[in-house]
Amino acid sequence: MIPLSKPYLTGNEIKYIEKVFENKHLSGNGAFSLKSGEKLKKIINSNKVFLTTSCTDALEMAAILIQIEPEDEVIVPSYTFSSTANAFALRGAKIIFADSLPNHPNLDVSKLTLLITKKTKAIIPVHYAGEPVDMDPLMALARKHNFYVIEDAAHAIGGSYKGKALGTIGHFGAFSFHDTKPIVAGEGGALSINDTSFIEKAEYVHEKGTDRTKFTRKETEKYDWVTKGSSFLPSETIAATLLAQLEAIEEIHLKRKAHFLHYLYELKDLPKAFILPSMEGNQSHFYIICPSEKIRDGLIRNLKNKEVMASFHYRCLHLSPFAQEHFNSTAHLPHAEKIEQRLLRLPFYINLTEEDITFICSIVRLYSIIDAQKML
Ligand SMILES: *Cc1c(COP(=O)(O)O)cnc(C)c1O
Repeated sequence: MIPLSKPYLTGNEIKYIEKVFENKHLSGNGAFSLKSGEKLKKIINSNKVFLTTSCTDALEMAAILIQIEPEDEVIVPSYTFSSTANAFALRGAKIIFADSLPNHPNLDVSKLTLLITKKTKAIIPVHYAGEPVDMDPLMALARKHNFYVIEDAAHAIGGSYKGKALGTIGHFGAFSFHDTKPIVAGEGGALSINDTSFIEKAEYVHEKGTDRTKFTRKETEKYDWVTKGSSFLPSETIAATLLAQLEAIEEIHLKRKAHFLHYLYELKDLPKAFILPSMEGNQSHFYIICPSEKIRDGLIRNLKNKEVMASFHYRCLHLSPFAQEHFNSTAHLPHAEKIEQRLLRLPFYINLTEEDITFICSIVRLYSIIDAQKML
């Protein structure tokens, strides 16, 4: 059976974890957290990085930092994971759902002005599969209408937009190191603070609302509760795993890129009605957009019959039970709905072999030529 994804381990993870136990410092903010945080900061050229236990946590930390309140509106793409919206809904924000580009999962920035109001507090772009959202016009809108931009860079470590790392362009950027992402740490994540005016407060929010980090640095002799916060820091075992991964990030990206190019090569002669992903960014997964839902579902079945686990991806959030109940969402977002119905993810992980990719693509090609043609 060929699974959809599988984490890649460098071999150093277990050695570093043993060190954690030797050090007898298992909780957060120890030597490995410091090293991983610095390493990530350097890789993405960020002003300040806080490790968290997930991207979900990183987004929630950002929501606390910008003081989301019940009257606030937060615009998120409908085509994304629940966490992108949930972090802000938790603090009472009204979630406004935005449509995707006509033939791409990313947010259509050119349509945002229709959704922006005086209550808009933040917009959360998601760089789907590591392909960048058009950040320049989005940041121009943010300056004009005075809202925050929090990049959901869960897929996007190593990707860039006009020479800047994704996750460092908005006021904040949230990363994920979940098993299904290119860099893994178990449950792990990070928040990049790009607007430096938030750095001091972020230190408190990260550590249960206290100034304990100053205490850890021996800048104070005691620590106090100074603001609202939570426990966002990961344990040292997570940070140790992350360090091993970050040290191998170039090798990881190169190997993934090679698979990505192999897929593109094998599928280059698919009928024009199939849309292939672009080569921008470091791909977190390989997907194609099929000409119809029927063809996409037929492909999933055909691949499954040959023990290949291909899959759909997100269900549009504006149609979700929660959004229907709480945000009375009557939005019709035709592009996001089309992407939900037609997007197909193919197995994508480093330990796939060349033969696996050739085999998977031969099934896709055969189906697209014989069965899909009948359905077009
Ligand atoms: C995976 C994912 C998340 C959540 O990441 P966790 O680290 O599992 O919390 C958030 N947003 C997007 C777009 C994701 O794909």
